[in-house]
Amino acid sequence: MPVFNLPYKGKLQDEEAISSVRQEITRLIPNAVAAAESLLNFPFDWQRIDFELTDSARGQTSQGQTSHISRMATYGIEFPIVAIRVQPILRGDYADSNAVFETLTHEMIHAIIRQNIPHDDYHMLPEWFQEGVPTFLVQQGEGKLLITLAIKWDNPVSILEAFDQRNKRMPYLTGYFFFAELDNRLGRMGTQAFIRNVLLSYSITAACDSLQIEENDIWQHAKRRASFRIQSLSEDVGSQLRDCMKLYQEGQSRENESQKCFQELIEQHPETYAGQVAHYWLAKIYMHRHKNDQARFWFDRFLQFPVRYGLYDNVRYFRIRILMEEKKYEQAKQLCEQYLLYFPDGDNYEKAKDVCSSLSD
Ligand SMILES: [Zn+2]
Repeated sequence: MPVFNLPYKGKLQDEEAISSVRQEITRLIPNAVAAAESLLNFPFDWQRIDFELTDSARGQTSQGQTSHISRMATYGIEFPIVAIRVQPILRGDYADSNAVFETLTHEMIHAIIRQNIPHDDYHMLPEWFQEGVPTFLVQQGEGKLLITLAIKWDNPVSILEAFDQRNKRMPYLTGYFFFAELDNRLGRMGTQAFIRNVLLSYSITAACDSLQIEENDIWQHAKRRASFRIQSLSEDVGSQLRDCMKLYQEGQSRENESQKCFQELIEQHPETYAGQVAHYWLAKIYMHRHKNDQARFWFDRFLQFPVRYGLYDNVRYFRIRILMEEKKYEQAKQLCEQYLLYFPDGDNYEKAKDVCSSLSD
């Protein structure tokens, strides 16, 4: 195992939170390196890795970035820099350590690939290859697709329309489906052989030729595969969720119906974006009715999903409001302080600030 540093370069002042995240990552790194080696079937030969721990973007548990430097070029010594961004507050009550482990493994796969190709040639590899390899091997494609669908839930077809290997905004998704198709045809060892061939020849075409496959044919099937997944995920995202939302928007008069609608969505499609986001709306219905325990229950379950985006911020704020309604001012104050400390760019920051200042009076 190479030696590694893990300095914290974020803005947080909370020593305890930082040290617990650092401990967790220190523990995960050797496992992530081992996982990356076995997924790629390449050894990791560097003697040293420089990690940098910083704060993740709002709503994301963790994200990473890998580059490599040859600080001592004259001696030919190179090592990767892995910037790992983690949201410490999400490591507490709602720890989702798999997401951090996946991010680390993903970054280590980038590092190993970089190690096997000269620095200047790395950028000649298409982006869908660079991102597709780790996204496929770590199985992050479905998650990426769910997040993309969450953003484009009213027009899922637009994802497919943008599905093109030359589209630089979607290298994770296009790459993922390319490798899913390749793996289906060649098996895992064939896929690993393909990756190795690309690194030896710097050429997708040459790697395809040596395995007697046709690149365009793989892309066609990859797109069909993506289309199938998008369709089956978006059928309920598009129609059922929309139906529930319509009922919800009609307010109190149809609250019972919308509650039932969201509940069914949760039961029938727990794996989809619709099934996950339904937790949020169900919790809001309970909140409107002042059934705080149920509201808290469903909010808490919602916060445990890996699909994280804007609605999370509302939940953090609502949890403060619920505690205030229950006159649990000490607990509300704690959550309030946490919110202001960790989410200075949160959508509800101004509102939380008002609430917090009223609490300290
Ligand atoms: Zn990546």
